[in-house]
Amino acid sequence: MKSVVALVKGGELGTGSDFPHPPSGRALRARGNRCLSPILPLEEALALCGMGDCVGKGDTVLVKPNLHGGPGHTSARLMRAACQWAFARGARRVVLGDGPFWGITSQAAQGYFERAGVLQACAETGAEPAYFHEHPYRLHHPQSPHVPRVLGVSHFLYDCDVVINLPVLKTHFNTLITVAIKNLKGLLRPVDKRRLHEMELHLALGVVAQLVRPEVTVTLCDALTAYEGMGPSSGTPVEMNLLLASGDFVALDAVVCDLSGVEPASARLVRECAALGVGVGDLDQIQVVGEKLSEHRRRFKLPWEALADDFPGLTVHSRGACSGCTMNLCAALSEVSARGQKVTCDSILIGPGPETEADLLVGKCAAQGKGRKADAEGCPPVIGEIRRALSIER
Ligand code: SF4
Repeated sequence: MKSVVALVKGGELGTGSDFPHPPSGRALRARGNRCLSPILPLEEALALCGMGDCVGKGDTVLVKPNLHGGPGHTSARLMRAACQWAFARGARRVVLGDGPFWGITSQAAQGYFERAGVLQACAETGAEPAYFHEHPYRLHHPQSPHVPRVLGVSHFLYDCDVVINLPVLKTHFNTLITVAIKNLKGLLRPVDKRRLHEMELHLALGVVAQLVRPEVTVTLCDALTAYEGMGPSSGTPVEMNLLLASGDFVALDAVVCDLSGVEPASARLVRECAALGVGVGDLDQIQVVGEKLSEHRRRFKLPWEALADDFPGLTVHSRGACSGCTMNLCAALSEVSARGQKVTCDSILIGPGPETEADLLVGKCAAQGKGRKADAEGCPPVIGEIRRALSIER
C-alpha cells in the first residue's frame, strides 16, 4: 500500500496574522466559535491523509514545532491551530514544546519562546509550554556506530498519547532541505545534538528517526510561509500558504523535496531513512491527495546558490559543523550583505573539516589541530565576531 501525503491550501490559517485574538484562556476551544476557522485547513489535511481521528477524548498530546533558536521557526499561527485542534478533538492536555539549539541558555530560551509566539499560543489555547532541556530525558543505548553510545530522548515523546511533529519547510546548509526528519533532532539532549554533528549527521539522524518513529503519530508541515536561500536561520520567506500532512514523515519529506524542486533521491536524509525502513522515500510509492503538487511546485534557492549570488567566489567548508556555527555564519553573512559590506576572504571553514588552507577559521572546532587560532573564536562564535572577521582588511 502506498504512503499517503495530503497537500492542502492554508486558507485563513495562512493569511491571518499570528495573533489576531487577545489571550483568552480556553474560550477558543469551543466548537462553533468563529475563531476556530483557522483549524479547518489543518482538519482537512489530517482527514485526507487518514489521520483525522488520531487524537481521542482524554488524550495527552505533544505538539513539537521547529523552535531551533533562530528565525525561520514554525509559525505561531500553526502552533496555535494545532493546539486548538487537539483540544477540539477532546484532548485533556496539550504540551507545546521543543529543545532548541544545544548551546542556548535557559534564560535565552525563555525569551525565544516568547518571541516565537509559543507562550501566547499557550495562553490563548490552554496548552502548556515546555522547554525540553529543563525536563527529563529517557536514555537509550542504540547499537549503532553512527550515533553516540547513549542517546537521551525527551520524556514527552513517551508520556504523551499522541505526538504531532510540526516542522516548517526550509532549506538547510547541511541537509539541503529541513522538514520532518531533521525536526526530530529537537527531541534529543543538548549534548547529543552537539555530538551528532561530530558524526555523520545524515546517518545519525537516520538512526534517531528509526528510534523515535513508533512514537510519532503524525507530521503536519508548515508551508504557509516557507524559507529558501540561507537556511536554516537566515532564509528568505516564501509565501506558499500550504499545509502537508502524513502519518509517514519520510514520505512527507520526499514530497516536500519534490514540491521545492529538489530530487528526493538527492536528499540524503530521505535516502537514509528509506534505506532503514523508517518510511517511504520513493515518490512512485507515495500518493499525494488534495491539491495537485504540480500546480504548487516551486524551485527553492538552495543555501550555496544564495551564497554564490551574494558572494561570488566564496567557498564555505561546513562538513561536520553543528547548527551553532552554521546558524551564526549564515546570520553574519546575511548582515554583511544587508550592510553592503564586502567579504574579504575566499574560503571559510566551520566545523572540524580538514581544510587547513581555508582563509578563515570560524569556531573552536575549525581551529582544532590546524596550528593556528580561530579568526572568530567561540563555540559558537557570536554573530558580530564572525561579521568582523569576514570583513576585516587582510
Ligand atoms: S565550534 Fe561550532 S561546530 Fe564546533 S561544536 Fe561549537 S558551535 Fe558546533
